Amino acid sequence: MGTAGRAGPEPTEFRRVMGLFATGVAVMTAAGSRGPHGMTVNAVMSVSLDPLLVCVSVNRAARMLPILRHAGAFALNVLAEDQQPLSRYFAEAWPHATPPEHRFEPWVGGPRLVGCLAAVGCRVERRLDGGDHELVLGRALALYQAAPPLRPLLFFGGRYHRLREPAAAPRDPVEVWNPEEVQIFYDS
Ligand SMILES: Cc1cc2nc3c(=O)[nH]c(=O)nc-3n(C[C@H](O)[C@H](O)[C@H](O)COP(=O)(O)OP(=O)(O)OC[C@H]3O[C@@H](n4cnc5c(N)ncnc54)[C@H](O)[C@@H]3O)c2cc1C
Repeated sequence: MGTAGRAGPEPTEFRRVMGLFATGVAVMTAAGSRGPHGMTVNAVMSVSLDPLLVCVSVNRAARMLPILRHAGAFALNVLAEDQQPLSRYFAEAWPHATPPEHRFEPWVGGPRLVGCLAAVGCRVERRLDGGDHELVLGRALALYQAAPPLRPLLFFGGRYHRLREPAAAPRDPVEVWNPEEVQIFYDS
């Protein structure tokens, strides 16, 4: 028994153990009334192929949530290994007064971060209760993939990591997704 009224492990232990589940890092972006808003996320899941759904778990306290409710759409920008400063910045963990250099391009669902590894442009399909988080289900409308070599930013054990070897280009997504329903963008 941990804290009064709660059976089971402590949240800090839970966080530490779940932190051993290695993930990539993405910046979720949405169009706010005062311009684009970005937030670093790694609680991201590919949910379904028919329909094409992704899920992002967003803290109920995040400023992103009211912006998402208003925008009804978002983009998930998968970060490349050299974009670690952007991960820190969009998580409010950037120690400097000036933001790291970055540029947004208008895109489907939300702004696309120039230099990202991949992106998924989504319409918000549903929002579900996830305890102190909200599970935002997005319907994929557009996909973007950068040109190889693909070097993702990784998060494991509360720290950032890089792949030792650059990853080979994955199978052409056209083989998996129906291009009539989803726009696919590639870097040449
Ligand atoms: C690796 C990692 C993974 C995480 N995963 C999750 C997760 O899955 N779910 C979750 O809920 N939280 C997650 N977090 C925490 C989350 O990123 C922070 O709590 C974040 O600060 C909450 O965002 P917010 O919407 O409240 O925005 P804010 O904290 O208000 O904004 C984030 C920062 O980005 C700046 N910013 C935003 N938009 C722009 C823009 N257009 N131009 C310039 N600057 C801008 C803001 O000024 C601020 O510095 C994660 C953090 C890390 C480091």
